[in-house]
Amino acid sequence: MTELEKKIKSKIPGPDTGIEVRRSLCAICSPGHHCGVDCYVKDGEIIRVEGTQEHPYNHGKLCTKGSSLRNYVYRKDRIQTPLRRVGERGEGKFEPITWDEAYAIIAEKLNAVKEQYSPHSVAFFSGYCKWYRPVFHRFAHVFGSVNFGTDDSTCSASKVIADKVTAGCGAGPDMGHANTFLGWNYEGYYSAHLSVEGVRKLKERGGKVIIIDIRQTPAAKNLADLFLQINPGTDGALALGMAKVIIDNGWADMDYVNQYTYGFEEYKALVDQYPLDKVSAITGLTPEEIYEAAKLYATNGPACTNYSASALVHHINGFNAHRAIVCLSALTGNFDRAGGNVPNPPTYLHKPAGFKSRENEFRSDRYPGGQKRIGADRFPLWDAQFDEFQAMDLLRQMEEEDPYPIKAIFALGMNAKMFPQTQRLLDVMKEKLDFFVDTDLFMTMTAKYADIVLPACSSVERGEVKAYQGGYLTYTQPVIPPLYQSKSDVDILCELARVMDLDDEYLKGGYDACMEWIFDGCGVTLDELKKSELPVKVPVAKWPAQPGNCLKNGFKTSTGKFEFYSTAIAKIDPMYGLDPLPSYYDSLSDQNDPETAEQYPFYLCTGARLPHAIHSRTHETPWLRSLCPKPTCEVNTDDARRLGLSAGDVVELSSPYGAIQATVKTTHKTKPGVILMLHGYTEANVNELIGRNHLDPYSGYPGFKGMRCQIRKCQEVK
Ligand code: SF4
Repeated sequence: MTELEKKIKSKIPGPDTGIEVRRSLCAICSPGHHCGVDCYVKDGEIIRVEGTQEHPYNHGKLCTKGSSLRNYVYRKDRIQTPLRRVGERGEGKFEPITWDEAYAIIAEKLNAVKEQYSPHSVAFFSGYCKWYRPVFHRFAHVFGSVNFGTDDSTCSASKVIADKVTAGCGAGPDMGHANTFLGWNYEGYYSAHLSVEGVRKLKERGGKVIIIDIRQTPAAKNLADLFLQINPGTDGALALGMAKVIIDNGWADMDYVNQYTYGFEEYKALVDQYPLDKVSAITGLTPEEIYEAAKLYATNGPACTNYSASALVHHINGFNAHRAIVCLSALTGNFDRAGGNVPNPPTYLHKPAGFKSRENEFRSDRYPGGQKRIGADRFPLWDAQFDEFQAMDLLRQMEEEDPYPIKAIFALGMNAKMFPQTQRLLDVMKEKLDFFVDTDLFMTMTAKYADIVLPACSSVERGEVKAYQGGYLTYTQPVIPPLYQSKSDVDILCELARVMDLDDEYLKGGYDACMEWIFDGCGVTLDELKKSELPVKVPVAKWPAQPGNCLKNGFKTSTGKFEFYSTAIAKIDPMYGLDPLPSYYDSLSDQNDPETAEQYPFYLCTGARLPHAIHSRTHETPWLRSLCPKPTCEVNTDDARRLGLSAGDVVELSSPYGAIQATVKTTHKTKPGVILMLHGYTEANVNELIGRNHLDPYSGYPGFKGMRCQIRKCQEVK
């Protein structure tokens, strides 16, 4: 082998090897991350990916998923051309068509529904990924529909709303100044690997860490000074119980409470109903554990809290559980104080970066009005607080056509697997829709139901604007051209806006026209951003966020205070039964009748994170799939022994709504009675087991993490 051949084999960049390093970002997981990547490109192909050392967010680190980016981009099942359905919906039979043909069909079909029914009968829906959402949101409104919805209907918006109706905004942990970290469902190693360093540093300077989780996790093992393994779905009761301990022992910061909060007396009356013995019985924790956690949190301040959204709000009592936990922060004077939780409003796409953009105005200033959004009558709090339809009512409205029919869905990356009783949704879409168009990188089970499927490209094949904490903004450039005939989601939207002659200069003007308007006034131009391979510091950015703004200028609530008693919830019609206080109710309250309880005695908890998986998105990426090839459920070792199950056995998991098969992994890390099922597998989609009406009445969120189930060995399969 020559020296040059050795260098090429070792993927060493240089003019002699023809290997160039080009920079982009990984967008496999949520926009809260999007780590910088160095792509090694030779002859138009990415041959290696690593983290960008100089990137201000990830500093060269990539998680397992990001390390598989090449594998992800070059998956064999990438959609290559626009496709038109030729078989039955769901059959997956398509023929290639041109982009012009696809645009013409989409324009004709959407306009036909608009004319025959109304523009609101077209629902616009965005799943993964999210970078184009402001453009898509505006597109829906300019088309004339109030119905723009996203996976926020089941993601973390419930937490956002709970924060809003309690404190007027959310607040992140100020790890750098805290003495105690309350990691409520915190598992940084699996879902936010870059956050672990902050917890480690806190420990190094003598700080204490409390971890609360339903299972023994790496974070609990490696970081916790106090670990509380709680019964699933009982977090709200624990928070109320801790509040009672704090108040009864005189550890509450009453100066803070008196000056900055609203509704303390009502809140105190609520928490008085949660003495230690009662909370112990509900949560499965000892009274001593609860007392110690409350004492450490309240007396070793300042104390900050990690609010892990989905682990809580995917219970039907999760909205209130989150509120109850946030209330602890105000009760102890830690909200908006150094070392506590400090408000840090998002700049763009949920990411705080210390400066303002005009994203919200761009999304909403063409809101057409004239009709209620999907879910407005069923989830009035969601509708009043969040500028999207609540997609958990989409199936019902399609089925019942009440208050009006939904006859078309225009989707980008729609994933029916995020809906409880997935197949029922797909069946109703098949039966009720006049037209369904979906855009995706891969031919998913949802795309198979579409009439037209459009090929999207990945983050490394497009350019996009992205804000990062620290006051940074970037505009990445494609490291390779879009594969096959794929296009960026925004190019698709803007080209379609021109074909449909939508009345909007920004949509017709393209991505840069939209971004220029959104980021106008931040002191850096798109051209300047494009010239830099790395994120650029924005001159007007103020970072880090400073505490005290709410305390000085008032909270963004109607009382101007932190609200233990939410005035926003109090305004909702009492017929919905929403409590302005963060009251607790059972997470299985809709399935506790004796017959169901006897037939389905186990507590099914889904959606736990794996370090190498993000929902269903990476299960088909070969290398990542090889790390956990079989749909797997975790069963407590004692339960397994009692049921005669061994690791590797195939079992049937069932609920009143369906059944799936999975392979058993026995574990001592979960409590007896709890079954943990990994989600996202097409062949064993656990969301088929979640009832479509098993929803949190405050947010509309499904109880993915709390459902009754039965487990039985599949002798015949074995
Ligand atoms: S998948 Fe991993 S590497 Fe990619 S953005 Fe998310 S955390 Fe970063």
